[in-house]
Amino acid sequence: MSKAITWEVTGQDGEARTGIIKTRRSVIETPVFMPVGTQGTVKGVRFEWLENELDARIILGNTYHLFLRPGHEVIRQLGGLHRFSTWDRSLLTDSGGFQVFSLTDLRKLTEEGVEFRSHIDGSKKFLSPEVSMEVQAALGSDIVMVFDECPPGDAGHERTKQSLQLTARWAKRSKDKFNELQIEGADTGGRDGNRQALFGIIQGAGHLDLREESLTRTVDIGFDGYAIGGLSVGEEKPVMYGVLEHIAPKMPSDAPRYLMGVGTPEDLIEAVYRGVDMFDCVMPTRNGRTGGVFTSRGKLNIRNAKFTLDDEPLDPECSCSVCRRYSRGYLRHLYQAGEMLAATLISHHNLAFYLNTMKDTREAIKDRRFATFRKEFLARTCGNEDEQV
Ligand SMILES: [Zn+2]
Repeated sequence: MSKAITWEVTGQDGEARTGIIKTRRSVIETPVFMPVGTQGTVKGVRFEWLENELDARIILGNTYHLFLRPGHEVIRQLGGLHRFSTWDRSLLTDSGGFQVFSLTDLRKLTEEGVEFRSHIDGSKKFLSPEVSMEVQAALGSDIVMVFDECPPGDAGHERTKQSLQLTARWAKRSKDKFNELQIEGADTGGRDGNRQALFGIIQGAGHLDLREESLTRTVDIGFDGYAIGGLSVGEEKPVMYGVLEHIAPKMPSDAPRYLMGVGTPEDLIEAVYRGVDMFDCVMPTRNGRTGGVFTSRGKLNIRNAKFTLDDEPLDPECSCSVCRRYSRGYLRHLYQAGEMLAATLISHHNLAFYLNTMKDTREAIKDRRFATFRKEFLARTCGNEDEQV
């Protein structure tokens, strides 16, 4: 069977690298930031803008949320998530594991899977590697994630070890079920018999020996790409950077490396520096909804009274359509008045900032000046916050 995605490294500067992922639906230049479309929509941002202005080539969908509502059978019947939502470029879906272990209080974990109560109506639900693969096949995403257990970030060595061993057994079951569904060609939701790609996930929290064990076990099973999970879950930054520095260069160089759920623009730059290719995070849109703005000079919060009479754009160095047209004073007014457009416009700008930062990053790596770029970027944005977002 031919591979569902291809991956090619196109440039390298230290550990940082540029590459191209090709799926049937889009060509994705890496390092790439993937906007998060939790419920089949990137909150507050129209697909037209993501396609035409922001030129996002891949977005995320959340299995947990779509499984509960509207349900994967509804999406299957409406032709898969691409057709249902009309997003025609690449889609990556997570496995549901992270949400089950972070959002729901009532859950019962067994070797088989995890039973939990829906946060929507309290009804009893069950997710396992097999169910997650079936749901992601019905959604028809281009990149599928294995179902993993996500232990708390402060879990001790023994608990983390048990967890990653369970994750490794679940990864094997995920792959077996995934292969079965691909061979059947059933319900992969894609057009022209499109196959999906499957990524494995490396766990192990802040324990470097366990990260290595998890990496070995995951690579032994064999996947189209490899993700680092269980970071940015409350640990200190040096712990996260330490794990990345240790594990990213040991990951297969002939497959994309994806850091899940991270992070701030500075985190992205620091992770690229250590060899990571793919990112997703809710921050640009979540912060956008609460008035948090990412700029080339650091973060600002539009709620701050000092912007009342400010006629400047959110980021004078940004060329997005929001910055070309609207002032901080106007956006602050919209926010204070509770106008929904405030969230939309700030989310749009924040995504533009993230995607442009990745574009600048790629150019810096290609020109082999990434070390200087990193230093300048961090000096400009860090320690220059008007208040915590
Ligand atoms: Zn902008």
